[in-house]
Amino acid sequence: MKIDFSPPYIDEDIRKEVLEAMDSGWITTGPKTLALEKLVAEYAAVDFANCTNSATSALMLVLHWFGVTRGDEVIIPAYTYAATALAVMHLGATPVMVDCGLDLNIDPGKIADNITPKTKAIIPVDIAGWPCDYMAIYKVVEKLASKFVATTDTQKKLNRMLVLSDAAHSIGAKYNNKPAGSLADITVFSFHAVKNLTTAEGGAICLNMPVPFDNEQIHKTLKLWSLNGQTKDAYTKTLKGGWKYDIVYPGFKMNMPDICAAIGLAQLRKYNSLLLKERKRVFDAYISAFSHHQWAELPPQDTTEKTGSYHLFALRINGIIESQRDQLIEHITETGVSVNVHFQPLPLLSVFKERGYNIKDFPVAYDNYSREISLPIYPELNQSQIEYIVKAVVNAYQLVE
Ligand SMILES: *Cc1c(COP(=O)(O)O)cnc(C)c1O
Repeated sequence: MKIDFSPPYIDEDIRKEVLEAMDSGWITTGPKTLALEKLVAEYAAVDFANCTNSATSALMLVLHWFGVTRGDEVIIPAYTYAATALAVMHLGATPVMVDCGLDLNIDPGKIADNITPKTKAIIPVDIAGWPCDYMAIYKVVEKLASKFVATTDTQKKLNRMLVLSDAAHSIGAKYNNKPAGSLADITVFSFHAVKNLTTAEGGAICLNMPVPFDNEQIHKTLKLWSLNGQTKDAYTKTLKGGWKYDIVYPGFKMNMPDICAAIGLAQLRKYNSLLLKERKRVFDAYISAFSHHQWAELPPQDTTEKTGSYHLFALRINGIIESQRDQLIEHITETGVSVNVHFQPLPLLSVFKERGYNIKDFPVAYDNYSREISLPIYPELNQSQIEYIVKAVVNAYQLVE
């Protein structure tokens, strides 16, 4: 049996929505993107959302809006995908990495020691779709607000570092009954092809800035800055002879095309009723299958405080080392089951190693990475496929010395 790791969810509703965009005569940013922005905002319980062409560019856009630049520092977890760090580096700022806890999320207890007068923001990442401990994170941020040195008007207005959630994995997750998107000052979702909700490539920014910020104004600013700083988008220009525009800011080109938004729109309409529900079914099936095995360390499971989005099933194996994990993956792969590792802690990757980050400073991240295998998890997996995957893992474990 061949089982893919994470195919995109495509059905008739999605094809229909994309065809509608194609047949409408308008395929780039326009009515579908606008509709997706409204639906994402509603889903995330915020007033305004901006769609972009990726989560990476969304992170860059927000950091730029907050004035993050050369010489600044931004706190990020060492255990994440590289994009979290690259977004910071593209602005000339320095990512300051913090080790993770046993839930694989940034360890709130290790943040304070890494904050300096140069720290402008923190980017917690909801790894595997499990929400970070935002209460603990805000507690640290507020406690150290006196250390914050504001260098722009926007920074003066907030007077503490920005909490920018990288929720690339966690659309649909909840913390204290509030959905991902409304848990931090600003939250970024990824709609990349392998994420829970996709537009092929894309991202969204959910605005939840506290008073006295005007989120509608920020929404308009980010819209302008994501389309070259042009006063009229291409769609608006097609309306009633509006050929004349101005460029009022040296903006970026980060807008989402309608043809992509159409996919996300059709998916989001049935995200809770189908996509998230089916992911939970697969997640629960793995939990019950692996809970029989002492060697299996299960990912965090829903509590009254937190529910995840079941983006990854991050299985860890007790008592093995990295080379044994690699052997396990080889055995599993031989059965036709595709698995992955999430994530190689950033200091293991060349670009960060060369910049002086050392994996020895992140022992929890390394230990968890070295024992981690991500199993396939998506709505289309049926019970016999799940059983086949479980058997492949159990057999592989028995083969590893
Ligand atoms: C996928 C991912 C991103 C980047 O998303 P893109 O939409 O591909 O830019 C950022 N952070 C994390 C944790 C991710 O997994």
